[in-house]
Amino acid sequence: MARVYNFSAGPSILPEEVLKQAADEMLDYQGSGQSVMEMSHRSKVYDKIIKDAEKDLRDLMQIPDNYKVLFLQGGASQQFAAVPMNLMVNGVADYIITGQWAKKAYQEAKKYGKAVAVASSEDKTFSYIPDCSDLPIDEDADYVYICHNNTIYGTTFHELPNTKGKILVADMSSDILSQPVNVTDYGMIYFGVQKNVGPAGVVIAIIREDLIRDDLPEYVPTMLKYKTQADADSLYNTPPCYGIYICGLVFKWLKKLGGLEEMKKINEKKASILYDFLDSSKMFRGTVEKKDRSLMNVPFVTDSDDLNAKFIKEATDAGFVNLKGHRSVGGMRASIYNAMPVEGVEKLVAFMKKFEEENS
Ligand SMILES: *Cc1c(COP(=O)(O)O)cnc(C)c1O
Repeated sequence: MARVYNFSAGPSILPEEVLKQAADEMLDYQGSGQSVMEMSHRSKVYDKIIKDAEKDLRDLMQIPDNYKVLFLQGGASQQFAAVPMNLMVNGVADYIITGQWAKKAYQEAKKYGKAVAVASSEDKTFSYIPDCSDLPIDEDADYVYICHNNTIYGTTFHELPNTKGKILVADMSSDILSQPVNVTDYGMIYFGVQKNVGPAGVVIAIIREDLIRDDLPEYVPTMLKYKTQADADSLYNTPPCYGIYICGLVFKWLKKLGGLEEMKKINEKKASILYDFLDSSKMFRGTVEKKDRSLMNVPFVTDSDDLNAKFIKEATDAGFVNLKGHRSVGGMRASIYNAMPVEGVEKLVAFMKKFEEENS
């Protein structure tokens, strides 16, 4: 059976090499006589899997020693609550609202403390990143929060906000490992892995050690305290073992490919193939401000809903799947994550050109 070109926003495409290796190791992981799904999370063999995954992520992102790497569950959405519970010391945090995920995080934080929306791009359907060079950051703010790449709208922070000395917390679910990141610019980075790394069910948090507190209020659930997870090396309870194993394989795949500098070059190449075509097309156009365009998620439209629907149908029939845009934007969206080969984007653009010729 032929594999499709999968442009899903998430869960999304994984490297074929990784899937094949996982298939090979399914019944007998490296002579253990068991699948990774079946083995104890306290076993020696699993301990190596999780430790190697952490080490490879640290190598790839050059994570400094004073940052902890935590493997968590509950999806990125659970972090919308965990972040304020762990980081609001003064009970105040500033949120930059650049899309639905940032807005949800803000709404969740408001349940817990004083969350302030210091900037927003909701006035234009989140089609741009607001100017964040001089925001009214609260003197008592415990952190400034961003969603680094807006999966639904296709915008990204090419320049980080001026936080006026406050720590920055970033949701990087949809662009983690797409390019090098200077980890020390952040107090905390977290991501649900199902967009650009692995299967749904794993969240990874990278957090500066001094922000992991052991004096949280009594009522904070044990499982939601970063301290619990940090002290137990992410093995306080059963972690999402198999998902972490797949993430580990993806980290090795990235290292073999040449690391994040190399990945960035490939991602820039893919994105420019698609954006250049959108900019030259008379039928298709991108929906966001050019300066804020994402490398990973590319929403685009035609001027007609009927034509959009026709395009999505014909593209699907031709093996380019999951191109339907988010319902709040309409049209199409191509998510071109790390695992999407250059060839997939070239073929998509060739298909779009042909569609334009046939329908204009
Ligand atoms: C998909 C996504 C989420 C939500 O992830 P869940 O794991 O489903 O909770 C949050 N933030 C961003 C940026 C996303 O792309």
